[in-house]
Amino acid sequence: MAEYKITKAIEFCYGHRLLNHKGKCRYLHGHNGHLEIDVTACDLDDLGMVRDFADVQETVKGWIDQNLDHRMILNKDDVFVSVFESAQEPVFVLDDNPTAENIARLIYEQAESQGLAVSEVRLWETPTSYATYRK
Ligand SMILES: [Zn+2]
Repeated sequence: MAEYKITKAIEFCYGHRLLNHKGKCRYLHGHNGHLEIDVTACDLDDLGMVRDFADVQETVKGWIDQNLDHRMILNKDDVFVSVFESAQEPVFVLDDNPTAENIARLIYEQAESQGLAVSEVRLWETPTSYATYRK
């Protein structure tokens, strides 16, 4: 069976830190994240597309811009959640540590819930390190 796949790349910036990490990732720091989202289909639509790249951009980047871009992404148990909130700084709170793996899963689930036939999300945290999530 044939399958088509398109990939849209999206850039965003975020800060985080990892609780219980023994190395320097336990300190607040930031990344220029490079996200790649794959959307697949067995058949193309009437225009000959899996999905319009602009639709993927609008759906995924729209959510990222409103929720993750230029924010601190923190574990719900992090003492900095209340510090940033009381200073009215934007925070996105995760149930788990805000690793590239967990952020990739978050974006995958968000894109899926908005009706995209997402098959895989890759989040590059640095130019040499990325995490992949797929079901
Ligand atoms: Zn980091």
